[in-house]
Amino acid sequence: MRARHVVLVALYAALGLSAAFSAVYAQDAEAWRAPFAAGEQARRSGDVAGYAREMANAAEAMPAGHLNRPFVQYHAARAAALDGQGDNAVRWLRTAWDEDIESLMISFAPFDPAFSAISDSSGFRAVMDLARDLSLMTRFLGGNVHLIVGAGSNVVVKVATDGVLMIDTGYGSALPALQKAIRDLGGGPIRTVIVTHPHEDHMGAAAELGAQAEVFAHPGTAAAMAEPYVFMEGVSIPPKPASAMPDVQIAADTSLVFGGEEIRVMPTVAHTAGDLSVYFTESRVAHLGDAFLVGNPMLYPGTVEPDAFLDRLDSFLDAMHPETVVVGGHEEVTDLDAVRDQIGVTRDAMQFVRTSIEDGLSIEETARSGQDRFAPQWTAFFYQLFTQTGD
Ligand SMILES: [Zn+2]
Repeated sequence: MRARHVVLVALYAALGLSAAFSAVYAQDAEAWRAPFAAGEQARRSGDVAGYAREMANAAEAMPAGHLNRPFVQYHAARAAALDGQGDNAVRWLRTAWDEDIESLMISFAPFDPAFSAISDSSGFRAVMDLARDLSLMTRFLGGNVHLIVGAGSNVVVKVATDGVLMIDTGYGSALPALQKAIRDLGGGPIRTVIVTHPHEDHMGAAAELGAQAEVFAHPGTAAAMAEPYVFMEGVSIPPKPASAMPDVQIAADTSLVFGGEEIRVMPTVAHTAGDLSVYFTESRVAHLGDAFLVGNPMLYPGTVEPDAFLDRLDSFLDAMHPETVVVGGHEEVTDLDAVRDQIGVTRDAMQFVRTSIEDGLSIEETARSGQDRFAPQWTAFFYQLFTQTGD
């Protein structure tokens, strides 16, 4: 389940950032991109047969292990369903489920009107049952804090004598597996849920858990929960019910005590408008949410004040014990040095792009001249961020 947001960042590009950004991407054309683009074109024009044919071609052309593979397979599934090919739709969903990354993307299918004609079929229901019958892996991190892997994002739990504090919930469909993993750790009732940001793979079970637990989240997450969650054009999950809504909104650095341990929570708004990062001061564990994703720049479309954000993150890290175990939203467990390295690369890329903009280079020229040091999509991304905000 790692690297989800490498997937998502790549998806945003595939789904329509500017033409200049697409041109940068086209430099490494891959066999699946042409049928994918044709499939998207067919979908927009209402050509269901063309959508199904091209997306099947794109999915077949996807190399093994490609980060966008489950997403293209999902498209092939929904296109087949729309085209009356129920068996093929179920087959593509099953194929997506078997992927190493992002298999829980099939959790969006019950909310996708494309599948309405087959949603009562035994084949469709059997694939959806797979998502509820997960077996998750747990890993001890420190103190009484554990990582649970496989629910769609990294879930961290503190198992105290009087109950459990949980950071992120995974997808809603993974909740039974998550509850079993917590029971296996000896955990009692879930008392507190901290949601790091308003993406479905992090807050999918907030409504169910919020019925019994106190939910903590950033005001930006509260605002997003009140809106439909759009997975792709035409596929959205309804706004969260009242039980998911944060009981406590955290807009500034905050300390809380749970199970006798001080836990610091810091807004790290960069990935979305509602990010929080969390540090367990005695267990020496940090969960940075998707503010830290290996292989991605630490900024996202719409990041406000990127330099101030990186400075704040630096000081949050400096206040941690040097041996702190660091968890990102989707990655392997790592350490503070890895985060600092990525902040450093992010700063270097920002500086490079700013200089390039001052020198009057175009987005393509910037991507090309920096490609020995920075991935072209990074430099293109920063170029857009800085030129959009007038930086
Ligand atoms: Zn995520």
